[in-house]
Amino acid sequence: FDFLRQTDPDITAIIGRERQRQQDHLELIASENFTSPAVMAAQGSVLTNKYAEGLPNKRYYGGCEFVDQAEALAIERVKQLFGAAHANVQPHSGAQANFAVFLALLKPGDTIMGMDLSHGGHLTHGSPVNVSGKWFNVIQYGVNQTNEQLDYDAIRELALQHKPQMLICGYSAYPRTIHFDKFRAIADEVGAYLMADIAHIAGLVATGHHPNPIPHCHVVTTTTHKTLRGPRGGLIMTSDPDLGKKFDKAVFPGSQGGPLEHVIAAKAVAFGEALKPEFKTYSAQVIANAQALAAQLQARDIKVVSDGTDNHLVLVDLRSIGMTGKQADALVSMVNITANKNTVPFDPESPFVTSGLRLGSPAMTTRGLEVQDFKEIANIIADRLLSPEDSNVETTCRNRVADLCSRFPLYPHLHSTQTV
Ligand code: PLP
Repeated sequence: FDFLRQTDPDITAIIGRERQRQQDHLELIASENFTSPAVMAAQGSVLTNKYAEGLPNKRYYGGCEFVDQAEALAIERVKQLFGAAHANVQPHSGAQANFAVFLALLKPGDTIMGMDLSHGGHLTHGSPVNVSGKWFNVIQYGVNQTNEQLDYDAIRELALQHKPQMLICGYSAYPRTIHFDKFRAIADEVGAYLMADIAHIAGLVATGHHPNPIPHCHVVTTTTHKTLRGPRGGLIMTSDPDLGKKFDKAVFPGSQGGPLEHVIAAKAVAFGEALKPEFKTYSAQVIANAQALAAQLQARDIKVVSDGTDNHLVLVDLRSIGMTGKQADALVSMVNITANKNTVPFDPESPFVTSGLRLGSPAMTTRGLEVQDFKEIANIIADRLLSPEDSNVETTCRNRVADLCSRFPLYPHLHSTQTV
């Protein structure tokens, strides 16, 4: 880190400010986490220098013997973690992983069926602004209006009507358990490929705290940086080795060039961490914390979508307190809570305004917060949102956030002058 300080004081200062921001804010963005120093060290290593187009032991470049070992280890560990027969660890991100799957299994004009963005789906599942929405005929399903949960009968009806080539499950803002077996039954009935995008819940799946899609889906994609707590990146898995070969080709040369071997090594480190018993304990705590957050918000008469959560995220329905997501996002950020405005199912507001606030427990659970701390977070948020004009409440909330952040330091074992 001294090298960076000497060579580029500007970037060193920026990284220092970002580290301070991460330390001083309550990080409640459901898709974020804090990787271990070991993950960051692998990512900042000499492996960044290496070109390695191809796959381990089948490269188009010389000198790959050691990056081969790193990538092979990442593949072995992740196969063990999820019980997959085949894995490709090269996708640079979740969106890249999804794109490669589409390239492997579909052709332009095919019909795909995914969840509507405003109900919790992801942009890459058929949004008109994404390539998935531009190249394919998109049918979108949503949640049931009464219980705000997946309605498998309605999804089946829609699938029978439109006969998609691919059915997509797995979401960005869905707080409930996904029943992959039910999706597979629907996919089989209409002859569709079933893809699960477990970007949000991968860490919960890996530790047995959410059903595993691998036995039920033709393909499973994920990011590695959310509940799985690895470096930013993507991943494709399948239990079908023939499909696996197609995905390998669709990643390279289909849609990417040289893999990021330093990130792949960091993925291997994260998968190794996720295989340890401590990670299982962590994942259980993630869920317990999210449930405590939801319950306390409800106790303060603030509605949460689907009246609770089974996973790491809580979607607050601000219509219950006559507020928009945009307003709530601004109010909590003024007291150093980082979250994001989000549409709720059947949202009357535009995606820029929204009626929801998405909260997640993975990042602050990594910092060591437990159920009583998440209860306190819920009370801080409730106090702030229920008295938006009260400057005394604002000051008190900011102080309570500062207290939590200082009691649970970020990277306590790294010296403050280290820039990571
Ligand atoms: N899939 C889902 C369900 C996601 O929630 C996200 C990101 O939030 C992605 C894919 C995309 O991941 P990335 O931002 O790494 O491209």
